[in-house]
Amino acid sequence: MRKKIVAGNWKMNNDLSLTEGLITDLKSQSKTSDAQVMVAPTFTNLWPAFQSLRETDIEVVAQNMHFAENGAYTGEISASMLKSVGVKTVILGHSERRAYFNETDELLAKKVDAALNNEMTVIFCFGEELDDRKSGNHEHVVESQIKNALFHLETSAFSNIILAYEPVWAIGTGETASPEQAQDMHAFIRTTLANKYGSEIADSVSILYGGSVKPNNAKEIFSKPDVDGGLIGGASLKAEDFFAIVNAF
Ligand code: PEP
Repeated sequence: MRKKIVAGNWKMNNDLSLTEGLITDLKSQSKTSDAQVMVAPTFTNLWPAFQSLRETDIEVVAQNMHFAENGAYTGEISASMLKSVGVKTVILGHSERRAYFNETDELLAKKVDAALNNEMTVIFCFGEELDDRKSGNHEHVVESQIKNALFHLETSAFSNIILAYEPVWAIGTGETASPEQAQDMHAFIRTTLANKYGSEIADSVSILYGGSVKPNNAKEIFSKPDVDGGLIGGASLKAEDFFAIVNAF
């Protein structure tokens, strides 16, 4: 059975007091689904979030990290630093990191290695742009992103990999991939994995969908057989909306 996961990416939103408020609201929600819940605050709020959520089943995860263990990388954060504040999972390859911080597949491969070497779990994000979708190139783009960043890994690494398909044209735009588009791509991703690692591995990896998931569309998207959960941006900033999505399973 694959894990169902709903992860909230808070991006560069909320200072300490707003983060504490959001966490208080999250703790007042009740979960009726069996999805694993994760939230990704900014770096400065990871430790207070971890302390506040440690008695709950909400996992605190990071939005990014550097590939080096330590050293002269001003402004960066390493895997061991994340682990020292209770973080065991990191989001890598988000389209905003790729677009605004020039993160390439090659760089992401190094980050993935660093996270796995530190026994962390990776939520690896990828997805095509609108032009790729319009030109029918979307599968090719997604396949290359996955191959370039992940296909050097040993089979055993996939127990610590969660995939997140996030079509760039659907992130923060209010436009969602249709449940059928999401299902088609998730099935394609699983076949791509199966061709390289075999169907047992492919069937065991959770593949999340991200891109304008909201309380009113989550149920239909999550009902698709290859969609194992969601990576939620905007709607994760309100506890009630986020839990409505969690409970859509
Ligand atoms: C995201 O940034 O990962 C995301 C899916 O954002 P939104 O839900 O706002 O589209």
